[in-house]
Amino acid sequence: MLLDLKEVFLNDGKRLVQNCSVDMSDMEINGVKPFVSPVMVNAVADNRAGIVKITCKADFTYSRPCDRCTTDTAKDMSMTFVHPLVVSLSGDHNDDYIETPDYTLELDDLIIADVLLEIPSKHLCSEDCKGLCPICGTDLNRTTCSCDSSHIDSRLEILKQLIDND
Ligand SMILES: [Zn+2]
Ligand SMILES: [Zn+2]
Repeated sequence: MLLDLKEVFLNDGKRLVQNCSVDMSDMEINGVKPFVSPVMVNAVADNRAGIVKITCKADFTYSRPCDRCTTDTAKDMSMTFVHPLVVSLSGDHNDDYIETPDYTLELDDLIIADVLLEIPSKHLCSEDCKGLCPICGTDLNRTTCSCDSSHIDSRLEILKQLIDND
């Protein structure tokens, strides 16, 4: 959606509110399309003493397998982004500011870029997810297995001794 911000830019104290939804269902992250429902956006552009900024609130459900146990895990996320806006950038390029040529801003592109940047790199079903047994693949959150992982420990023990003796 293209926002026309001319009225905001030209009038101190002016405020524009826009609610919309952004479809990100085709976005793929690590082989999964995690945006299972539209991203609901509340955008407010305002001009305070000649400084124009846009505040975007994005609410959406993010669903992908847990990084440790691979169980499908949906999380409701809410993010807020604030960007100062300028009609044209003068001098050095400044990433903090967003250029709005002809007083227009493509809101969808901004939301998509912001959301993708803010998505946490780790996605866990719970903070203390035990994950899968590295030997047999059993989901250790549901049950236990009888795999003997002591050989891993003993190798570490030998390594530790080698370091201690050094
Ligand atoms: Zn998990
Ligand atoms: Zn096991």
